[in-house]
Amino acid sequence: MSKAVCFSEFGGPEVLRYMDVEVPEPGPGEVRIRHRAVGVNFVDIYQRSGLYQVKLPAVAGNEGAGVVEAVGAGVTALKPGDRVAYAGKLGAYCQARVIPADRLCLLPDNIGFEQAAGMMLKGLTVQYLIRQTYRVEAGDTVLFHAAAGGVGLIACQWLKALGARVIGTAGSQEKCQLALKFGADHCINYRNENVVERVRELTNGEGVPVVYDSVGKDTFESSLKCLRPYGLMVSFGNASGPVPPFDLSILSQLGSLYITRPTMMTYTEKADDLRAMADELFNAVTTGNVRIEVQQRFDLKDAAQAHRDLEARKTTGSTILLPE
Ligand code: NDP
Repeated sequence: MSKAVCFSEFGGPEVLRYMDVEVPEPGPGEVRIRHRAVGVNFVDIYQRSGLYQVKLPAVAGNEGAGVVEAVGAGVTALKPGDRVAYAGKLGAYCQARVIPADRLCLLPDNIGFEQAAGMMLKGLTVQYLIRQTYRVEAGDTVLFHAAAGGVGLIACQWLKALGARVIGTAGSQEKCQLALKFGADHCINYRNENVVERVRELTNGEGVPVVYDSVGKDTFESSLKCLRPYGLMVSFGNASGPVPPFDLSILSQLGSLYITRPTMMTYTEKADDLRAMADELFNAVTTGNVRIEVQQRFDLKDAAQAHRDLEARKTTGSTILLPE
């Protein structure tokens, strides 16, 4: 048996229930892991609210780190006692679970469980965004929204290490200060500053080659207006709500723009790609280029409060849950 945070209907944080669930023996190709720390991500909220439909009932959460307890038939790459972490597999808010072995990444000795739970989903996301979706080069000026969030703080540091000039946005002066401390060159408080005007000022009127926008509805149009001709809009989230349908001709009016709506699931679908991305992330962390800032810790049973705080924009950096 394992304690787990489950939901059997879509809705607010109150639909999350802390209860006992049965943990089966691992089948062929599977592993049972005992979590030491579990990551909290905005995607957990989309799934709980029903914005992203998942099969119900479900155990919430998509990211965890812990120790292999048992392996199923045919699993040769992992053994009991191995330290592992994963991202992108629903069912993480629990003490123990069964998961396909090829979704797990072996943790380097110098990466702790809390750090791992604070970085797998967010860090793999940053990897694909800045190294694959648009390959950021030294000297590029990049606009990255929600720069003081979990994904945001990792992105600021990694972009800096690549030699990019980072314009972040955040919802308060304190959050802007944090983004600046973590590598942003400029940070715009988008609650009271005009983002398009500031970005134009900071780029001598030219605009940026790429915008990373996870805020969605509230920032979509202004993000497009921050791009230079042929620029790329990377719309990768909906923290303020999903982007409503739009007229494609806006892309021609604003300068033959490109737009993509990526998800980590595509980029990590092949196990080899997942491992290569994880290696790059682990390297960024172990070399000190990226520090994982776990700013909020909750007991597993208090997952609903973690959701409330994340939705209310009260958090910065990464949030984790600790199973007893
Ligand atoms: P964050 O820690 O970044 O939290 C979300 C932040 O969004 C808030 O802190 C807040 O920062 C900002 N925000 C702006 N408007 C709102 C609003 N109306 N309500 C709530 N928050 C708002 O979360 P994560 O690091 O977990 O994820 C960041 C984003 O990246 C999410 O949108 C997530 O869905 C997306 N994502 C996408 C992936 C993909 O593959 N497509 C994978 C992983 C994450 P502020 O107050 O500074 O505005």
